[in-house]
Amino acid sequence: EGPPRLHRNFTSIGDGANGPGGRMRVMQWNILAQAALGEGLDSFVRCPPEALSWSRRKYLILEEILGHRPHILCLQEVDHYHDTLQPVLAGLGYGSSFCPKPWSPCLQVEGNNGPDGCALFFDHKRYDFLDSVNIRLSAMKIPTNQVAVATVLRCRSTGKRVCVAVTHLKARSGWERLRGQGADLLRHIHALVQKHGLPLLICGDFNAAPTEEVYRRFSASVRLDSAYKKLSRGGLTEPEYTTWKIRPSGESCSTLDYIWYSQDWLRVEALLDLPTEEQIGPGRLPSFSYPSDHLSLVCDFSFTQQPGGTL
Ligand code: NDP
Ligand code: CA
Repeated sequence: EGPPRLHRNFTSIGDGANGPGGRMRVMQWNILAQAALGEGLDSFVRCPPEALSWSRRKYLILEEILGHRPHILCLQEVDHYHDTLQPVLAGLGYGSSFCPKPWSPCLQVEGNNGPDGCALFFDHKRYDFLDSVNIRLSAMKIPTNQVAVATVLRCRSTGKRVCVAVTHLKARSGWERLRGQGADLLRHIHALVQKHGLPLLICGDFNAAPTEEVYRRFSASVRLDSAYKKLSRGGLTEPEYTTWKIRPSGESCSTLDYIWYSQDWLRVEALLDLPTEEQIGPGRLPSFSYPSDHLSLVCDFSFTQQPGGTL
């Protein structure tokens, strides 16, 4: 019921043959902090204010998540973890970890619901929780206001382990050097992954276009690839946009969100396509039809046969 939803389909990438252990569905989404909306810290001038109430948005957010039923869910700008997302998703069988930003801008808003941060959820029927760390990211050796969660999970049926991380790097142009935070995240995670010899998934709002240094750094990182490139014809270019909004300063349409994965261990089998400009509509995002200015990314992975792998 209610307004029409954005209709999106999955595009198959692989040959349809599943590797050992079946598929793993991963979702990446910046859900847009609620507190930032109330006091106009973040104003989307073409979006009707009635579309932005938490009571409306929370149903659209949960509907989007449960419509896809990801095994692993990585969220940014979560400022309703303790009172909404954690209890609702726990009731549906998800375990989770949350890392708030040290000085969330949400805290400046009167009547805020606490700091926003990154949250990582996993389907407990499928995965056992092994370990998790909350990371405060540094840039140029200086601690920053951005964070990440890195969790190690073990598949209950195959025993395969995977390290999953979620992050949200510093926003805005002019702050490219601070997004060197990405290199700090890789440093932290490589320590974890090398110790255990694990496949890696890193989901995030990197606030960086594919032309930026931090993107190149991830691309050049040992055996990491960005899943959504596989949606393009040659498999080499990112989508045209993962966020599209109109602020007082103007329209902004850009690719900032990514799902990075270890290409030696994981293979992209299917991707949720991105809505067209026409579907998104003239007021862009968020809207009555969609609760965030960022689009969700959903990828189905299979495990490759890892030669000599110990998993
Ligand atoms: P970021 O610059 O990384 O941005 C924070 C949020 O603002 C992000 O969620 C981002 O969304 C959103 N955002 C990006 N562009 C705009 C825009 N043009 N208009 C409105 N919102 C936007 O945040 P920081 O963590 O660096 O902190 C931001 C603010 O927090 C500071 O300006 C300061 O006021 C406050 N702060 C206070 C501190 C204190 O000591 N009290 C310390 C540190 C910060 P997206 O990622 O989707 O673009
Ligand atoms: Ca935002």
